[in-house]
Amino acid sequence: MRKQNALNAPLDHRAPLVFDTRELGRRPGALKRISRTVEAPADLGTEVIGVPAGAPLEVELRMESVMEGVLVTGIVRAPLAGECVRCLEPLAREGEAEFQEMFSYPETDGHGRRQADAVEDEGDEETLFLQGDLFDLEPVLRDAVVLSLPLQPVCREDCPGLCPECGALLAEDPDHRHDDAVDIRWAALREFAGTSGPGESSGRQDMQDKAPRGRGDDPQEK
Ligand SMILES: [Zn+2]
Ligand SMILES: [Zn+2]
Repeated sequence: MRKQNALNAPLDHRAPLVFDTRELGRRPGALKRISRTVEAPADLGTEVIGVPAGAPLEVELRMESVMEGVLVTGIVRAPLAGECVRCLEPLAREGEAEFQEMFSYPETDGHGRRQADAVEDEGDEETLFLQGDLFDLEPVLRDAVVLSLPLQPVCREDCPGLCPECGALLAEDPDHRHDDAVDIRWAALREFAGTSGPGESSGRQDMQDKAPRGRGDDPQEK
């Protein structure tokens, strides 16, 4: 899909992530550095963390003319926003990703179809091409940024997360606990109530019946 877009849609030199290599003049060894800050495109990230759309994306590029095209090396920095996978609180941090990509000269001058064939022949290996003097860095940046993102972002390494019983934020209430003694006390009370009266056996049976009740239904359904 990424290849199709690159080949079918003519690049707009005014697009924020389209870069011009004309100054390199196709002279191997020629070098150019560019810094550019652009607004982050939408959906740059994963479901749990990413660069907010419109956030400043600082791109530093080094374009080097080589025999077969232009080798682009760079780094991108951007603010990240997401959600801690343990406590679900919002988190923010600075993200940084490095990338290197080769943009090849088209094998034929301007024959898009020949290019497409060549790309398909190479199977999975992705070849990106220059369009005239232009290349689109967006797919490269997307891959670099997404790969650099943590799969399981946490607000802090020792985030205690949420209480599995009531969902309370344990970071704000580190001593939070559910007193099992309460249950024990209730059980003791029930037992006490049972032993003190004729309801003992029926009371115990009620409790025992509760668990197997679901299982007991199965034979009836079959
Ligand atoms: Zn957290
Ligand atoms: Zn709790």
